Amino acid sequence: MPRAYVVGCGVAGLSASLAAQKAGFETFLFDMAHEAFYHTSGRNAAIGRSYEADPFLGKWQKETIKTLLAFPHILKPCGLLIRALEKDYSYGGANHELPDGLVPRSFSYVFPDGSSFSGEFLAANGIIDLRALAGFLLNQCQLAGIKLFWEHELLTLHYKATLLDELVLFSKSTKKTKSFGIRSQDIFINAAGAWAAHVGAMVGSQVAIIPHKRHLFYLKPPESKALPRELPVIWDEHHDFYLRPAGEYILATPGDQTACAPGDYVENPNMRYKMLHILQTHLPYFADFEIVTSHTCLRTFTRDHRPVVGFDPKITNFFWNAGWGGHGISLSLGIIPFLEDLLKKGPRKENEVENPFTVFRFF
Ligand SMILES: Cc1cc2nc3c(=O)[nH]c(=O)nc-3n(C[C@H](O)[C@H](O)[C@H](O)COP(=O)(O)OP(=O)(O)OC[C@H]3O[C@@H](n4cnc5c(N)ncnc54)[C@H](O)[C@@H]3O)c2cc1C
Repeated sequence: MPRAYVVGCGVAGLSASLAAQKAGFETFLFDMAHEAFYHTSGRNAAIGRSYEADPFLGKWQKETIKTLLAFPHILKPCGLLIRALEKDYSYGGANHELPDGLVPRSFSYVFPDGSSFSGEFLAANGIIDLRALAGFLLNQCQLAGIKLFWEHELLTLHYKATLLDELVLFSKSTKKTKSFGIRSQDIFINAAGAWAAHVGAMVGSQVAIIPHKRHLFYLKPPESKALPRELPVIWDEHHDFYLRPAGEYILATPGDQTACAPGDYVENPNMRYKMLHILQTHLPYFADFEIVTSHTCLRTFTRDHRPVVGFDPKITNFFWNAGWGGHGISLSLGIIPFLEDLLKKGPRKENEVENPFTVFRFF
């Protein structure tokens, strides 16, 4: 039986592992962290969105949301109220294939102080419980018989001519290296998130996939104010900010993005002021909420801001699933059949011609 070795136990690696197992590979998944979703997949804003101008991403997002609607412990469909730059939010609901909850309608949300926010409202969109999603994907992997290795860091990949033939891992618990021979029928999947370019460079592949830091703030209401009831996710693409309910708090971002190194989570204090300025200017109801905590998270982009999914042009048994930018959580379940199909077809150049996310576009 051919084997698939997958690096990265974020949403991209778990989805790719499920796809590989379904495509007939005995699958091994490893991560340098001690648990799933330790990096970007566990630190993001966790909004499940169904619409994008991109026809492929949009299709996968809708599929993911539709599937997740059956799992209320994972997706809480509080709705998304968006002032969108993309036209497909405001087409008036003409697409009859969509369930009512995914069809946008104009809506104005009025805050308790009388101020309001207007845009397109999508009922079925909402907030994803990241722990529950990680648990769900991990459970699926375990049921499928995928072998998981925690605290195993990929150190090197060896290749001869156009084929990988060995990978070397470092186990943090035993402090020893472990090596796996890779045969010509086996594949390696790069789902290393912010480190994907680094892993690509191990085989001499120079795909620019660059992490961008974004700040997230938790805001607490003053004692005199209550949280607005049944608040949807509010997103303003014109001014690049969004916020959403998070228990007793509001989770908000000024929409910043600064290129940085993988694993760089250092906060920029100026972003607090940017956040407060945005609230004062555009959502005054939240202007006197207190920032109680914050963190940063890395969105990783390719040059054209679309993911790289498919076989490497040079090393034929090296498969990419990276560069998911700000979409990975919303697309997690929808992309599995696409990955499975690519893996089944195998590393033939003619297959990559039909693949909209092929790595070949950068060569
Ligand atoms: C602020 C912010 C908000 C976001 N909001 C949303 C949102 O609302 N909705 C949405 O859909 N998406 C959102 N995203 C995007 C989403 O989080 C990402 O697209 C997704 O999590 C990327 O997953 P990944 O598996 O590629 O990366 P990760 O989750 O980072 O997984 C990569 C894994 O690879 C492992 N790894 C790397 N190198 C090695 C190595 N050498 N050896 C072993 N292991 C290795 C890492 O430990 C890591 O666990 C947001 C992102 C950010 C930063």
